[in-house]
Amino acid sequence: MNWHEKTLSELSQAIFAKEVSSVELTQYFLQRISQYQGLNAYLDVQEDLSLRDAHFADELIAKGHAGPLTGIPVAHKDVFVTKDWKSTAASKILENYLSPFDARVVERLGVRGAGMVCLGKTNMDEFAMGSSNENSAYGPALNPWNTQYVSGGSSGGSAVAVAAGLAPIATGTDTGGSIRQPAAFCGITGIKPTYGSVSRYGMIAYASSLDQAGPMGKSAADCGLMLNAICGHDQRDSTSLRREPGNYLRLLGKNWSETGRLPLQGLRIGVPEEYFAQGLQEEVGQAVRASLKQFEDLGATCIPVSLPKTKLSIPVYYVLAPAEASSNLSRYDGVRFGYRAKDYKDLTQMYERTRSEGFGAEVKRRILIGTYVLSQGYYDAYYLQAQKIRRIIAQDFQTAFTTCDVLMGPVAPQVAWKIGEKSKDPVEMYLEDIYTLSPNLAGLPAMSIPCGMSTEGLPIGLQIIGNYFAEAQMIQIADHYQHVSTWHQLVPSSSVKSSGGTL
Ligand code: GLN
Repeated sequence: MNWHEKTLSELSQAIFAKEVSSVELTQYFLQRISQYQGLNAYLDVQEDLSLRDAHFADELIAKGHAGPLTGIPVAHKDVFVTKDWKSTAASKILENYLSPFDARVVERLGVRGAGMVCLGKTNMDEFAMGSSNENSAYGPALNPWNTQYVSGGSSGGSAVAVAAGLAPIATGTDTGGSIRQPAAFCGITGIKPTYGSVSRYGMIAYASSLDQAGPMGKSAADCGLMLNAICGHDQRDSTSLRREPGNYLRLLGKNWSETGRLPLQGLRIGVPEEYFAQGLQEEVGQAVRASLKQFEDLGATCIPVSLPKTKLSIPVYYVLAPAEASSNLSRYDGVRFGYRAKDYKDLTQMYERTRSEGFGAEVKRRILIGTYVLSQGYYDAYYLQAQKIRRIIAQDFQTAFTTCDVLMGPVAPQVAWKIGEKSKDPVEMYLEDIYTLSPNLAGLPAMSIPCGMSTEGLPIGLQIIGNYFAEAQMIQIADHYQHVSTWHQLVPSSSVKSSGGTL
């Protein structure tokens, strides 16, 4: 059986029907992970620990205590701390680091929560800084559609794991696009929820006012199932919302053909003109427009809207995120945990050498930018100014939402690029984030769904941005599209040279 091609609900049904046990499913995925090691999707795999969890899940199932996710394997981005697997955030400074506790997301999904079995930790850009997964201290995760291309970032490993069938679903985090962009580059579905919906407890912090965890899976419905398990208040995260999240799948399942109405009748889709401006690759624009047409066929109306401050999201984000990062990353000093330089003559030199040797180039660049914009004399000119514009960007969205229900546009200006093509020029890489940054700055939910293929055979993603707490509606909209399109069902078949296998 090709278990890696099944959705979460199909896997769940198979487990309930005793067609497969959790141990068998786990072994199946572990086998694929070792077969496709060349993709570099995982940073840590501990087969015995996964199988221990799978046995536990099978006992729950035998006792009749299973929920919809019990026994299904999951992969976690290496930014979530785990007791049993190493937690490195793809940095040398946390090499071999073992956390004394599990992140809230890991706990909620795990065998003592929703019952899922951890397959291991996935590759990412170091401390989630990047758009291509090339900033990992452990080498890039390769795009399974063509291994010469980047997988996107920063949650590249999770996207590759799902796209290549090395996990049925995975967790990711999104500070400025890190769930949506790799999902788009690898042809899967990913959701960044409303800020504060998912606990950040145990998520290695990059930019705390922007970081948000979310699911990366095969379909909107699969992602909704995971959201149901991870959303909810956590008193250990001061920014966690005190709000009953409800069931994210509650709007799915109606048989529209019987109602005589089109499923998306009355839905107003705002199409921001700034998202189709200069710089957008033609093929990406065409695929996104074709999908908008399909939404119209489902009954929706497309309305042109404007998000005039879109361009400013890049300078604003690249001031605020490094500012927060410079503060968050000050804890890696070689004293309490992680890497410590071998040779030093005093404490100052220990700090200097530890941080110089432990952090990669991009992380250092951002610590420098962040320290600069927060320093006396520049704070008002950069940091404070950026905070003000952040507010205006959020207001842009609220103005747009007076005339439409959701916004749609591309996830990124282009499809995945060749490994090495942009890594020499950080600014060129930052510009790739133009469409994904502003929802984070505003705290809005946004998702990415596959909507086409380039002539080179690389996936194209459509972005859906909703108003606060519109996740259930967004999942419903995406689910309708995924009933009439097949992009999300395509699987990569390119040969993975380094591992000698074919997907
Ligand atoms: N590409 C963006 C950055 O490098 C976003 C990363 C993210 O969302 N974690 O900061």
